Amino acid sequence: MSEKDALHTYRSKRSFDVTDEPRGEDAAAGEEPRFVVQIHDASTMHFDFRLEVDGVLKSWSVPKGPSTDPHDRRLAVPTEDHPMEYREFEGVIPAGEYGGGTVIVWDEGTYQPLSHDRRGRPVPFAESLEHGHATFRLHGEKLHGEFALTRFRGGDGDQSWLLVKADKDGVGSGTPDPRRARSALSGRTLGQVAQEEAPKAEEQRHPATRGRQARG
Ligand code: MN
Repeated sequence: MSEKDALHTYRSKRSFDVTDEPRGEDAAAGEEPRFVVQIHDASTMHFDFRLEVDGVLKSWSVPKGPSTDPHDRRLAVPTEDHPMEYREFEGVIPAGEYGGGTVIVWDEGTYQPLSHDRRGRPVPFAESLEHGHATFRLHGEKLHGEFALTRFRGGDGDQSWLLVKADKDGVGSGTPDPRRARSALSGRTLGQVAQEEAPKAEEQRHPATRGRQARG
């Protein structure tokens, strides 16, 4: 599947003349695959966990967020592939648009695929995801060490996965309060981003008001 096709669902849900989210023109794979965890204050607060796989960001919505406590098993529901540029998206998606609400980049960095077959040979990461179990080591600003994603429901249709901390490196007490958490990019909270970016999002939605605001 080409990258263009891979992002078809992502694009079909969004009006890029209204939202600041990237359209995904030039997905490019870096040497080390990237990951990002965004906090998204939409109709329900959730974390978006995204791993670069074959030039796009494979994405899961994690209602409670990734936990650094190995005892926590966090529900992760797959969402559509996102373009690579999305890992830098922080801002306000206009109300009424798909995913309307505020987004911050809570953590980002690189990851190391760890999946092996029964004989201990490395398995391509995309393949391990297709098989419903992938392990990887995160090198983020906040998240470190090994995590596992495991599908437990729905091979074909609506899927449910679990995201679990899988080793002792980077163990902590869980997940911070999303409303107090700060962006890894800008140090801002959701509230600060909403305050600073909402006027821009509104301007984009109603361009006619721009001139009036500039004069007034
Ligand atoms: Mn989201």
